[in-house]
Amino acid sequence: MIRVGINGYGTIGKRVADAVRAQPDMEVVGVAKTRPNFEAQGAVDKGFDLYAAIEERKPLFADAGIDLAGDVDELVKASDIIVDACPSGIGADNTDLYREYDTPALLQGGESADVVDASFNARSNYNEVEGCDLVRVVSCNTTGLSRLIAPLSESYGIEKVRTTLVRRGGDPAQTGRGPINDIVPNPVSLPSHHGPDVNTIFPDLDIDTLGLKVPATLMHMHSVNVTLSAEPTASEVRELLESERRTFVIPEWLGVDGAGALKELAQDAGRPRADIWENCIWGESISMEGPDLYLFQAIHQESDVVPENVDAIRAVLARASQEESIEMTDEAMGLDNPLVGTTHDTVVTTE
Ligand code: NAD
Repeated sequence: MIRVGINGYGTIGKRVADAVRAQPDMEVVGVAKTRPNFEAQGAVDKGFDLYAAIEERKPLFADAGIDLAGDVDELVKASDIIVDACPSGIGADNTDLYREYDTPALLQGGESADVVDASFNARSNYNEVEGCDLVRVVSCNTTGLSRLIAPLSESYGIEKVRTTLVRRGGDPAQTGRGPINDIVPNPVSLPSHHGPDVNTIFPDLDIDTLGLKVPATLMHMHSVNVTLSAEPTASEVRELLESERRTFVIPEWLGVDGAGALKELAQDAGRPRADIWENCIWGESISMEGPDLYLFQAIHQESDVVPENVDAIRAVLARASQEESIEMTDEAMGLDNPLVGTTHDTVVTTE
């Protein structure tokens, strides 16, 4: 069993802990928290050993009646690998600790690419991180774009990618984030950081990205234009994307008209926390104009990187091939259970 420690148990960390626990070849050694709160209590309720991330704050846990298994150093020492899901920038500060115990670590997309040996997306560059000490699982948006770019590039070749990212202002629990009622070019100058971030996975890709922030919490939305080297039909592209594991092509007949309906669908499907691990691509948006592909996809920022973290663990430790790992991860997490039980070509007759 691969012994995995989780440092930082918030939006991403708690999801990764559940996904790791579900794997047949992994166990969670414990999770580290800075303070007692509902998530710390949640970890205890789930039976995860809790470690103190900051020594001076240990009395706060005692005051809250929460037992600790030890300090974060002990967690790092006892783990084969650490998933660091601390807020942006803190992961980089933690790298000395991981080096001290010679424990490889996965950082998240909020960290700078310069801090790590390699950036990671399971579909695109699984085989490039074996044996690395520090690997960054790229951000939710970069993960979503990479999952799209990899099959398109392999099947048709890519001349240029242009994407506008309409980004949620904050996660549902981030009360302090905005904008409250505004639409903000973010950044106002080009490119947004997403294009260069995609280049950490596809170094030679020609990509321009623009970003906006809107007062929404549910998902990000990408308006994508890819100039392909070949000229497939829209149906061919659709079939290609339907054949991918972590892309869900939304059938027209579902009547899913936005992120709200998608989240409702995930709840109805019994997904934990209504998570949507796949890219959600509107089937009827997949259009070809000459060599230009256009489509809209929604990305669930809180969860699409979760299966990627699980795969990165096996990739770094060389415990499974790309195909084996992705299949194992998806099966164990329930990503294999489709959001709907039928495919787009199911005939639905309406009155
Ligand atoms: P979060 O704020 O929800 O969770 C971070 C957790 O780390 C919190 O529980 C916080 O108390 C804890 N923490 C703070 N300092 C710590 C320390 N020194 N040691 C241990 N724990 C500490 O943040 P998040 O949204 O889970 O983001 C984590 C990382 O994942 C960031 O790099 C972020 O950019 C990236 N990411 C976030 C999202 C998203 O939409 N939330 C998506 C993809 C990637």
